[in-house]
Amino acid sequence: MTAAWIALVAIVGSLIGSFANVVVYRWPRGESVVRPRSRCPGCGRTLSPLDLVPVLSWLALRGRCRTCGARIAVRYPLVEAGFALAFGTLAWAYPIERFGLTLLPLLLLVSMLAMAALIDLDTYLLPDGLTLPAVAVGIVGAWAYHPAAGLPTPAEAAVGAAIAAGVLVLINRLGGLVLRRLRDTEERLWPFSLDAVNVAALAGMLGGRWWALAAGLAQVVLSGLARRPVRLPEPWVYALWLTALIVALGGWTAAWGVGLVEALAGSLIGAGAFALLGAAWWWAVDLRASETRKPPAEEAGAPEDDEGEPVAMGFGDVKLAAALGALLGTTGFLVGLLLAVVIGAVVGVAQRLFGGSRFVPFGPFLVVGALLAWAFGDALVAWYLDLLGV
Ligand SMILES: [Zn+2]
Repeated sequence: MTAAWIALVAIVGSLIGSFANVVVYRWPRGESVVRPRSRCPGCGRTLSPLDLVPVLSWLALRGRCRTCGARIAVRYPLVEAGFALAFGTLAWAYPIERFGLTLLPLLLLVSMLAMAALIDLDTYLLPDGLTLPAVAVGIVGAWAYHPAAGLPTPAEAAVGAAIAAGVLVLINRLGGLVLRRLRDTEERLWPFSLDAVNVAALAGMLGGRWWALAAGLAQVVLSGLARRPVRLPEPWVYALWLTALIVALGGWTAAWGVGLVEALAGSLIGAGAFALLGAAWWWAVDLRASETRKPPAEEAGAPEDDEGEPVAMGFGDVKLAAALGALLGTTGFLVGLLLAVVIGAVVGVAQRLFGGSRFVPFGPFLVVGALLAWAFGDALVAWYLDLLGV
């Protein structure tokens, strides 16, 4: 029974993988992902159901179109096989007779993350329409997890999402500041801007998460009331933030009851929460605008992606990280981020050595690192502690 169930879920996975190939190709082009039926790009023939059998059809046809002989990229069967493997592994790791519906949100979330990573690989864009709903699936889906499954509770998923977004948005703000040679940003968004992120990051470092959320909220409300962006110059906010970090590291914030961990968590949660709220706000604005004008504007171009402003990391990575943080919780996400940085460095060095020149975006590394942390995180942490002799 168990083997049959795992095989069934794997087959469903290969079909979802086939659909993912369509989504990854069409979504960035603004085309419908359901119509028309897939065609051969060589001869334009509509593919028959037989041509669409995952992996097997590609093998049977030896990677060529049945009619015109045009090559079919090996990536298509690889993606289908990857989905089958991921679905089968999850069905095996979270048996339905023991963990009930735990599997369902996991399958949905992993599918969305894999599609986002592949689109990022192709286009350097992470569509809001995939990443932001994935954050919601990660948090809401946590209600379906069985308590014994070792997955985050809804509260842990929400905190994990905020902290993950916070880490990346602070790298984005600080990196941007360095790349601008410490000049203030040109960005003047209203009513929801990255100024709320900055203020929340600072307040959180001094007072913990609730002060962070209150300060960010105050910035948004004041901007709304003033009908213009109420802002503090970014170089000054982050100079104060660094000072507050040193104060927290010195243990002095404990004097008013905020330990180092809560200072760091508060800063990240505040920054991440307002980065995500702002992202959701501007996504909704984008959606409303694209309803009135056709064709729709580029999916991932949230207004935060200030053109001409150098950024250390794309804002799409902030939302992708949030989805991963919701899936893994805080610790799992941080292990995954570390793995992503290491894998990214290894791939970068390999490209230098073997002459590959194509820039690989960070999103796919984030997803791969997170999946590895999910599968092997506990073993990795145990191995590392063992290495330290703890
Ligand atoms: Zn053809």
